[in-house]
Amino acid sequence: MPVQNGRDVVVSEVGPRDGLQMVHVVIPTPAKLRWIAALAAAGLPEIEVASFVPPKLVPQMADAAEVTRFALTLPGLHVAVLAPNARGAAAAAAAGAHKITVTISASEAHSMANLRKPRAAQIEEVRAIAAALRDLPGRPALEAGLSTAFGCSLQGEVPERDVVAMAVELVEAGCDSVGLSDTAGYAQPAQLRRLVRAVQAEIGEKLDNLHLHDTMGLGLANVTVGVEEGIRIFDGALAGLGGCPFAPGASGNVVTEDLVFLLESLGLRTGVDLDALLRAREVLHEILPDEPLHGAFARAGRPRGWTAAA
Ligand code: ZN
Repeated sequence: MPVQNGRDVVVSEVGPRDGLQMVHVVIPTPAKLRWIAALAAAGLPEIEVASFVPPKLVPQMADAAEVTRFALTLPGLHVAVLAPNARGAAAAAAAGAHKITVTISASEAHSMANLRKPRAAQIEEVRAIAAALRDLPGRPALEAGLSTAFGCSLQGEVPERDVVAMAVELVEAGCDSVGLSDTAGYAQPAQLRRLVRAVQAEIGEKLDNLHLHDTMGLGLANVTVGVEEGIRIFDGALAGLGGCPFAPGASGNVVTEDLVFLLESLGLRTGVDLDALLRAREVLHEILPDEPLHGAFARAGRPRGWTAAA
């Protein structure tokens, strides 16, 4: 979504999608809707509410269409969803999602493990999705989420030239934008700066999103570099929920509360109310009482004298 409405940056909450990948209890739909409503009430401009995957593979996402339709009733919310293939993208578009992110691995090993097909085949899938969406009235925005862009827990190093080449191909295939995802959480600030610049040199502002995990504790350091390099959409998950079933050792996303605290401290308005985010944490804890909730802001509270960006 474009940066607007008194915001300098967009914090995109992915907890209800990415966060649930590692949670094995199936959350009843009404509880999920309560969680999403609490997130929206905190002023988050965009929420990735579901993944349109086969329910047989991911029972947690069987209610994707219902959740999407509910999210569309929340005022002003940009409703984002994930889809791994053309079938999922068609269902997501039918449900009315504003933005569909199609995942594609920069690592061949992760592509085979996660999608069970080579990278080249997934680029063709993205091309077919873009073609199918093109003529839809009020069509959703199509983003390619380049996962394992900074390294892969299965194959190790992911060559930067592969990431750059794939970003170019994905734009040519019809994607409106590209995001770089640090699925394993291996990114380091200097590496991130180099790769962001290399991708921007080819596709410019079409690189608009960073999806960072905090495996090595460098998530927020990486966000700071992303901000310096002009990225304006950052994914986070409330309480740092999440991981990736095909990226062993990966921990959750950057904690949304800490991400908002950082961005506001940098003078960037997020439009997000930190106190309301803490209330959303309580809702999450009621729904998933056994799930550990992470985050420094929630633990330490607001530093004395600290104020949000004006
Ligand atoms: Zn992720």
